[in-house]
Amino acid sequence: MHQEVEVLLEVQRDDAAIFELEDKLAALAPRMAALEADTKRAERALDEARASLAAEEKRQRDAQFRIDQHRELLRRNEEVMNVITSPREAAAAMAQTDQAKRMLADDERDMASIHSRVEDLRKYVAERAAVVDSTRAAQGDARATLEADRAGIQGQLDAAMADRNKKAVRVSRSLLARYDRIQRRQRSVALFALRGQSCSHCDTLIPMQRRNVMVGSGTPEVCEGCGVLLYAVE
Ligand SMILES: [Zn+2]
Repeated sequence: MHQEVEVLLEVQRDDAAIFELEDKLAALAPRMAALEADTKRAERALDEARASLAAEEKRQRDAQFRIDQHRELLRRNEEVMNVITSPREAAAAMAQTDQAKRMLADDERDMASIHSRVEDLRKYVAERAAVVDSTRAAQGDARATLEADRAGIQGQLDAAMADRNKKAVRVSRSLLARYDRIQRRQRSVALFALRGQSCSHCDTLIPMQRRNVMVGSGTPEVCEGCGVLLYAVE
């Protein structure tokens, strides 16, 4: 077999290993993304819980403001009652006082239910915050593992590339370019042997004239059937 073809076959073996390593590296990306998505989801739930709590706390402040206003109204009515002399005025003041008391009772009922919702939401926020913490901690551990995996594969890949390139310089530039083009396109084996009179990849019969050229020059030729590079085995 032609020396150059032998070297190219070695390069091809290296390339198969390189593809495998590249696939392994690519497979890590979704795992990394899944970890990030877990944390994002937990953080979003916490944000939502905090927003609900803030809205309920605002309702609480508003309710407190109404309670204060109605208490003030009641207090002023009582002052008026103390200085009233006519029965007509007394009846009016009494009616106002009753109304203010009813409003205050409503406010206090509202306040009680708001208060209980605020308490629930505070607990919920604390739970969500705990989930965020535990997710981040788990992600930190998993990320360290993934990062170690990634660095390991990258190291192997760099070594395999360096090895491959050292061999590749022993192949002529034009043959290597043809090989690279086919091999990158297919992401698999690009160089096949002639088997008898045919391409061993697609079984297309190769005309005798071309086979003679391959044997004579030792240089691989492109198969017209499937586009791979074919070399003659003497
Ligand atoms: Zn073929």
